Amino acid sequence: MGNVFLLIMAALTSSALTESRPPVEALRLTVFDCGSLRLEDVSSFGLTNADTPVRDLFVPCYLIEHPQGNMIWDTGLPLTFAGQGRVALQPGATVLYEQSLLNQLAVLGLGPADINYLGLSHMHFDHAGAANAFPGSTLLVQRMEYEAAFDHASDYPVFDPRLYEGLRGSAATQLEGDYDVFGDGSVMILSLPGHTPGHQALALKLADTGHLVLSGDQYHFRASRTLHSVPEFNHNREATLASMAKLEAYLLANQATLWIEHDQALADSLQLAPAFYE
Ligand SMILES: [Zn+2]
Repeated sequence: MGNVFLLIMAALTSSALTESRPPVEALRLTVFDCGSLRLEDVSSFGLTNADTPVRDLFVPCYLIEHPQGNMIWDTGLPLTFAGQGRVALQPGATVLYEQSLLNQLAVLGLGPADINYLGLSHMHFDHAGAANAFPGSTLLVQRMEYEAAFDHASDYPVFDPRLYEGLRGSAATQLEGDYDVFGDGSVMILSLPGHTPGHQALALKLADTGHLVLSGDQYHFRASRTLHSVPEFNHNREATLASMAKLEAYLLANQATLWIEHDQALADSLQLAPAFYE
């Protein structure tokens, strides 16, 4: 009886929310809080601790809804952290993840089966944390990243294959550079190698919000952008600097706005899910 009541309540809640969320007629972007990282020392990011006062890094996930399909861009921290309070990661680093990405999608009436494409800026733990939850989505990843993550992970100590090995048998489009996801130029993956072998960013042309680029980890801090700082744990310093130049040229040529994904101050200014940008 109790279960039936809960099911009815869930159905009512979900239909109410579905009604409040209009059908997708144009490109739409939803930003989820998929946790945050707190670091005592940021000097491994190629900055001195005096270069920025920022010690909290937002960890986002994004839902991109297009009339031709749904895409998740970055999946946040590992789901095992969700609902655990503040957890120590290593000395000087903690994570906090309140509501899992899956719970937040469920509030929108969506589940992993509704996600056609899974785009990951790269395979680090704070971006691939829920990757295993989307085995039925087509993975959109650079070939270099795919091979590093699935064939040579032991060469990349920052990769944790346990977080994404569930995708080994999934459909994957292995990219060789920039990629137009829906074929209409509205959602473009930008190849920006360096942070990892196949790091990438995502450019979105939104009707009202305008042309926006989600940075991946090309920059972690605003100061990284002004100082052209390269984290010491990056895969390739020269490639990172070349990708910085490519990204800045793209932003200028397209009059696009950059959202640094880990920018907590930016996140604090955004409308998070269930709100969305069009
Ligand atoms: Zn990151």
